[in-house]
Amino acid sequence: MILLPCPHCGPRNASEFRYAGEASTRPDPNATTPEEWRAYLYIKNNPAGWTTEKWFHRTGCRRYFTAERHTVTNEVRETRLPAARLESNS
Ligand SMILES: [Zn+2]
Repeated sequence: MILLPCPHCGPRNASEFRYAGEASTRPDPNATTPEEWRAYLYIKNNPAGWTTEKWFHRTGCRRYFTAERHTVTNEVRETRLPAARLESNS
């Protein structure tokens, strides 16, 4: 069982959540080329290591949050509300 700590509800089984993708900064629609939009929408980093992701607590508070998770070990070192500023994925 993988425990994912929701910032609102506390640690819960990962089956309560829905993965919502890698966290990234949305580009400015007025200053972005079609190629940059395509990269934002479809091209993901998918690292074997630490990554910043968006998750949705579908059977709990029904809110989105951001998690830093190691994709190999599934260790979660931080979860935070989406309003918190994103740092790099290193
Ligand atoms: Zn929750």
